[in-house]
Amino acid sequence: ISRIDLRGAALATAASGPANGALDRDLLPRAELDVEAALEKVRPICDDVRHRGAAAVIEYTERFDGVRLEQTRVPAEALGTALRELDPAVRAALEESIRRARTVHRDQRRTDSTVQVVPGGTVTERWVPVERVGLYVPGGRAVYPSSVVMNVVPAQEAGVGSLAVASPAQAGFGGLPHPTILAACALLDVDEVYAVGGAQAVAMFAHGTAECAPVQLVTGPGNIYVAAAKRLLKGVIGIDSEAGPTEIAILADDTADPAHVASDLISQAEHDVVAAAVLVTPSEELAEAVERELKTQVPATRHSERITEALSGRQSGIVLVDSLEAGLAVVNGYAAEHLEIQTADAASWAARVRNAGAVFVGPYAPVSLGDYAAGSNHVLPTGGCACHSSGLSVQSFLRGIHVVDYTRDALAEVTHHVVTLAEAEDLPAHGAALKARFDWKVPEAP
Ligand code: NAD
Repeated sequence: ISRIDLRGAALATAASGPANGALDRDLLPRAELDVEAALEKVRPICDDVRHRGAAAVIEYTERFDGVRLEQTRVPAEALGTALRELDPAVRAALEESIRRARTVHRDQRRTDSTVQVVPGGTVTERWVPVERVGLYVPGGRAVYPSSVVMNVVPAQEAGVGSLAVASPAQAGFGGLPHPTILAACALLDVDEVYAVGGAQAVAMFAHGTAECAPVQLVTGPGNIYVAAAKRLLKGVIGIDSEAGPTEIAILADDTADPAHVASDLISQAEHDVVAAAVLVTPSEELAEAVERELKTQVPATRHSERITEALSGRQSGIVLVDSLEAGLAVVNGYAAEHLEIQTADAASWAARVRNAGAVFVGPYAPVSLGDYAAGSNHVLPTGGCACHSSGLSVQSFLRGIHVVDYTRDALAEVTHHVVTLAEAEDLPAHGAALKARFDWKVPEAP
C-alpha cells in the first residue's frame, strides 16, 4: 500500500470553508479504471441486446461467463431445490440479515402528506412504488447472496409489484446462478430470476427480451461494466446509484487498533482487484503499525492475491494529514462508499461527515457488519458519487407524485399572479388557460 503525504498541504477545513469544494481530488487515491472508460466497452453490448434480444444475451453469457444457456430464466424447480439444500447455518444467517434489513427499511416508508396551501387549495404528495424493477446481484469474482437481501427487502417494503433478479450464470453450477443466491431468492419469495450478469443483464432489463419483460428501474451493485451499463441506459430506465467496485476509507487516530484497521482495509480489498482501501490519519505511528499488520495479515487470507493487487493499486493508500480536522476534509472530499471513524470521540467526528455512502462509528461497527447484518443497506454509491447520491433504500423504489386540488375560489385568488408570471415568461397562453375559467377576465385581487 502506498503512502500519500498531505501534511502541510492546504486543505479546506471547517474554519476555511466547505470541505468538498476546495480539496484537490487529484491528490487522493482513486481508481484508474473509471466508469467513463468502461462505457465504450459496454455500449456495443447494450446496443446488441436491444436489437437481438435474448439471442444476444445468450451469446454474451457464453463469451463472458463460459456458459451456453438454453434459456435465460431460471426454472422454478431450481429455486425450490436450492432452498431445500441450503446449509441450515447459512439459512439462519440469511434470515437474521433479512429480519434486520426489514426492521430498518420498513421504518423508511414515507406516508402520503397533504398540505393545505390556502383555504380550498391543497397539494398532496403521494408515494407510489415503481411497478416493475430489475435487481442486479453480482456474481463474478465473488457471489453475493447478501445483495439479494439488500435489493429485495427495500423493493418489497416499498410495495413494488413485480420484481426480477439477475445474477451471472456459473459454469460450476450447471449454468445457474450460485445456489445460495437462488436460495436467498426463494427465502424472499422471488420467483423470477435470470442467469445473466454484466452489462447484458442491465440491457436485458432495460430493453426487455422475449424471455424477460422490460423493467422501469434497475438497482444493485456490480463491477465496472455493470456500473457503466447503468450509466449508459439511465433514461431508458431509472437507476439507483452507481454502486461499482467497493471502497473503504478509514479516518483514524492513534486510539485505533492497527490490527483492526488493517483487517477492515483487507475486508473490502477482498471484493475486487480494483476495490479501494484508504486510511486517512494524522498518526505516523498508526500508519506504520497498519503497514506492519498488512504485511502479516494479507498473506494469511484466502484471497491474498486479489487483496495484494487491490491494496497496491493507485486507488488505495495511506494518507497522512496534519490533524483529524484535515483528515475530515480529506474524507469529505473523497466521498467514500464506506467510511469508518476509528478515533477518540468517534460519534462527534461522524456527525460532521458530509459525504459518504454509509458511516461506521467507533471500534465495533466494521464495514463487514454493514455488508451483512447491521440492518443498513450495503448497495452504496462509489467513485465519489456519494457527494450527490444515496445508498439503496425504500425511497429508491418510490416516486413522489404531487396531486394538486384547488377550488374555484382558491384558483381565482391566485390567477392574477399566474397571469403576471406567464406574461413575464412570454407564455401568455398559460395565463389564458386560467382566464378562460373566469370569462377571460382576471378576477379582482382580494
Ligand atoms: P459482477 O456480477 O458485477 O460482474 C460479472 C460480470 O461482468 C460477468 O457476468 C460479465 O458479464 C461481466 N464482465 C466481466 N469481464 C468483462 C469484460 N471484460 N467486458 C465486459 N463485461 C465483462 O461480479 P464481480 O466482477 O464479482 O463484481 C462485483 C462487484 O460488485 C465488485 O467490484 C464489488 O466490489 C462490487 N460491490 C459493490 C457494492 C456496492 O454497493 N457498491 C456492493 C457489493 C459488491
